[in-house]
Amino acid sequence: METQSEVIKRLERFGVKPSLQRIAIMGYLMDNLVHPTVDTVFNGLSSSIPTLSKTTVYNTLKLLARQGAALELSIDDKNVRYDANIFLHAHFRCKHCGSVYDVPVGSCEALTVTSIGDFMVAERHLYYKGYCGKCKAEVAARAATAAADA
Ligand SMILES: [Zn+2]
Ligand SMILES: [Zn+2]
Repeated sequence: METQSEVIKRLERFGVKPSLQRIAIMGYLMDNLVHPTVDTVFNGLSSSIPTLSKTTVYNTLKLLARQGAALELSIDDKNVRYDANIFLHAHFRCKHCGSVYDVPVGSCEALTVTSIGDFMVAERHLYYKGYCGKCKAEVAARAATAAADA
């Protein structure tokens, strides 16, 4: 668990005024590095903060992303996901279980470039899709069965 002061430090570093709800939401992201959606964050916090609304969670996550305190990922075509890991990394989405994983990329120019010709780069995303370690055996077994049935 992140301490409250660590969470407040993160918010202040990115110019976000630390209200109680913002601290709870930022803290949830920092404790749950599984790229949660708005719904996941809301469900995770609503029992401990009964006054929290889904709109507040939505707006706060947008704010955190806008200020750079969290990343906003569009790797999942159904749900926007959020990430408190703001260090250089790529993402891998499993097409079978839907989990989104962090992938280390070492020094990747595509993820550090600040300008390309006349374009000023404000965001960089590197997305991979495939099958995670837990799913790939099952997917391979299914493909083999399907091939045998054909
Ligand atoms: Zn998987
Ligand atoms: Zn990530």
